[in-house]
Amino acid sequence: MTWKKSVLFITATHGDEAIGVEAISEVNRTRSESVDFIIGNEIAYSLGTRCIEGRIGGDLNRSAPGICGSQQYHERRAWEILQIAKGYDWVVDLHGCSQPMSVFIILSKIDPQRLQLAARFDIPRILLWQTLPGHKGGALNASVDCGIEIECGPKDDPMVREKLVRTIKDFLISINDANCDWAEWFKRREVYTVVDSIPFEEKDQYPDLKEWGRVVVAGYTRYALFVGVYPHIHCLLLERLPSAQIELLCVPARGRGCEQGGSH
Ligand SMILES: [Zn+2]
Repeated sequence: MTWKKSVLFITATHGDEAIGVEAISEVNRTRSESVDFIIGNEIAYSLGTRCIEGRIGGDLNRSAPGICGSQQYHERRAWEILQIAKGYDWVVDLHGCSQPMSVFIILSKIDPQRLQLAARFDIPRILLWQTLPGHKGGALNASVDCGIEIECGPKDDPMVREKLVRTIKDFLISINDANCDWAEWFKRREVYTVVDSIPFEEKDQYPDLKEWGRVVVAGYTRYALFVGVYPHIHCLLLERLPSAQIELLCVPARGRGCEQGGSH
């Protein structure tokens, strides 16, 4: 059986996050065969804004599965993107933010195929973030058969962009390697999960929080993320999973092997 995976990169799902477009364009400049990518929110990207404002506006990454033919662009576009994504085994949605977070992976859904896709990127931090607090709509990566999100920051930092380019190039080299022991790779990652948040009102109690910085809250060791990004919270609080728990995540995936994992 031939192991061959097709991959689609979604870029600029948020229109002011051009880092994905730039990174994939750079990757394609050095390849004989271009990797497939689309601009997620084409209108917001042309305007340089996160989303389209006003009556027809909304967040594309909170709109999956979308609505065919909707008057609302974000709903219609989410549906269109998911139709395009059906033609691919793997979907990678590239995001950027202003904070110094470096490059990390977000899994909005956890299954063996997604764990494998995440492990194939040489990115040390993986965030399991299955529900978006206060957001009712779905992330694009959760609505495709097998998708992950990559977040990068600061999004305008050339070194961060270069890191993303290098990571994608390495991933593409190994994409057709059926014999990788991806579960072993996954176990070497730092895996975090969102457990709580610090409300905006309590922000003065935590004046020196840094992205991925350790913070003790009510006696528990947590890690701060997206500090000052969301309007109603000061930051998300993460728990770092102990290695035994990461092992457990990989257990159901064991035995499926690379030959089957990710196929559908
Ligand atoms: Zn984004």
